[in-house]
Amino acid sequence: RFRGGLIVASNREPYCHRKTPEGLRWEIPVGGVVSALDTVLRVTGGTWVAWGSGSGDMEQTDAGGRLLVPPENPAYTLRRIWLSASAEENYYHGFCNLVLWPLFHGETDRVVYLPSFWEEYEKTNRAFAEAILEECAWNSTIWIHDYHLCRVPRMIRAADQERIIAHFWHIPWPERERYDCAPHGEEILAGLLGNDLLGFQTPLYARNFMDCAAARLGAVIDDDAMTVAWDGRTTQIRTFPISTDFECFNALANSASTAARIRRIRKQHHLPRRVGLAVDRLDYTKGILQRLQALELFFQRNPEFHRRFSFIQVAVMTRSGKPYLRYRQEVEDQIAEINKKFGKADWRPIIYFGSKLERQDLVSWYRMADVAVITPLHDGMNLVAKEYVASRGDGKGVLILGRQAGAAEELTESILVDPTDIEMFATAIHRALTLSSGEKKKRMMQLRGQVQGNTIYSWVDNILDELSLLPVMKQGGK
Ligand code: UDP
Repeated sequence: RFRGGLIVASNREPYCHRKTPEGLRWEIPVGGVVSALDTVLRVTGGTWVAWGSGSGDMEQTDAGGRLLVPPENPAYTLRRIWLSASAEENYYHGFCNLVLWPLFHGETDRVVYLPSFWEEYEKTNRAFAEAILEECAWNSTIWIHDYHLCRVPRMIRAADQERIIAHFWHIPWPERERYDCAPHGEEILAGLLGNDLLGFQTPLYARNFMDCAAARLGAVIDDDAMTVAWDGRTTQIRTFPISTDFECFNALANSASTAARIRRIRKQHHLPRRVGLAVDRLDYTKGILQRLQALELFFQRNPEFHRRFSFIQVAVMTRSGKPYLRYRQEVEDQIAEINKKFGKADWRPIIYFGSKLERQDLVSWYRMADVAVITPLHDGMNLVAKEYVASRGDGKGVLILGRQAGAAEELTESILVDPTDIEMFATAIHRALTLSSGEKKKRMMQLRGQVQGNTIYSWVDNILDELSLLPVMKQGGK
């Protein structure tokens, strides 16, 4: 459906090459954006423009920074962009990770701002805009992703008024009062209003964006048409909750190879009969410390679960820098303390994995877990919650979900918790583990209906439907 080809742009690349003592290796970085978009581009083909961040990336590309991916079965082009050390420091670790990420996740106390962050953010966005224009045919559709590239739409627009530009915002958008403290808040909004179409995960985030555009820029909002008009242009604002490849997770979870893997894993880790699971990137927004506090209280109150239940916490470090190193230390210390307090020679209450699980193992854990506890403090969507549901064709398993995850809007048959209310949280864990099998099945079937009815493919389809209306609307507007 992308007649002139699809050009996707995101900060993170879908395939990353690393130099290792055994030679050059490629890997898929962990994260929701990469998981979702790679699935799409494998089907549509096109070009993905992203930062070439791997130590072996340059060796693998042609002089223009291009290579075909996936490496084992090429389906689309990856165009890598090279960042200077200063850009990496100020654009990525600085403006993206120390300003925008905490600001948009309600962690304003963690925001650290330096003027050099913004200078490099602008420069890097310009490099992306130029690369995107180089990759475009006259009728290509440009699809930009997330908060790293806010300025790109306006930069492309300055070069080309007619081009269709869409942007998907994967993380939350805060309410106006919180956004007031955003450094360069006007420029961020102005950048995004270079888009024809701007998509959010939930209606609340879309509403918040419109309020901010009205308050900070004086943009004109049309609530019925869901548009924002500013500086002679109109941007459509829509909601598209992202999802997962339901059939793929479902089939893999039901396979004989997964059953065999589960038997192997159970033996290898000496697991008790019942297990709980959390899978996160190691990030303070994921609420890992609060979850551990709730588990500690749960073990304290419910000694009958000692030796009968272990909790698996997967926490993959995807970002470096002080806040993340400190957070990891806190998580590891807290786990050690709980295990010391309650553990026995033959039983560990919490089992911690710090490195990435591949899809096969991940699905085995999903299928094994009596309860998945997905409780971010703030999260745009959270794909792990949907992947867990997609993997439970057996109708077993209970999902405990934090109310502040975007997924909570759709997955209402989960046990919803406020992750900071530790008392209630601990009670919810007990409830999940003592739910009748009939109740579990009923809830899980409803959850599965929800995820199956809105997969990653319907997400793309819905966005494509909106995009296909745009040329008509643009002409109508002239
Ligand atoms: N993931 C993975 N291996 C791991 C941990 C996570 O492949 O060990 C994947 C997971 O399957 C999911 C993504 O990373 O698709 C995380 O996405 P989510 O939306 O939950 O969080 P985000 O990374 O976007 O904050």
